[in-house]
Amino acid sequence: MNGRKMSNNKFYENGLQFECQRCSACCRHDPGYVFLTKKDLETLAAEKSMSEDTFLNKYCRIIDLGGFKRISLVEKSNYDCIFWSEDGCEVYKARPVQCRTYPFWISYLEEETEWKELASSCPGVGKGPIVSKEEIEKRIAERQDEQMLTV
Ligand code: SF4
Ligand code: SF4
Repeated sequence: MNGRKMSNNKFYENGLQFECQRCSACCRHDPGYVFLTKKDLETLAAEKSMSEDTFLNKYCRIIDLGGFKRISLVEKSNYDCIFWSEDGCEVYKARPVQCRTYPFWISYLEEETEWKELASSCPGVGKGPIVSKEEIEKRIAERQDEQMLTV
């Protein structure tokens, strides 16, 4: 032992400011993936009153990530999410965990620089009230605990 104290402190120990500005940038305009978990598929298919197979055929695509494949929602030709409408998300109450937990994803929370850089694409970062460390970690866990849909 060299006496150095290990620290589990995170840069968001005291929480992070975030308030969605409803700009819709995370739902539209740019190509991207909305990966689904098994639970997302179940919830979305029920929301649309269709079988999971029908939902998969109508609203999903297979994404080859090199070594493994995942299921994502399809996009419109302008890269808007298939469920985006001028009134907002058509499946808001049943939206996938990826959407519900954004922007509190582990990929943005390992380093403070990642979080700060995110402000350039998500104007809610750094605005509004403080989201506590407990709430942030709850959202990280929510996403990690769900089993991804693979093929
Ligand atoms: S990009 Fe950020 S601020 Fe804009 S709608 Fe998405 S979460 Fe809200
Ligand atoms: S499912 Fe809804 S919240 Fe998620 S990207 Fe599509 S429109 Fe946005």
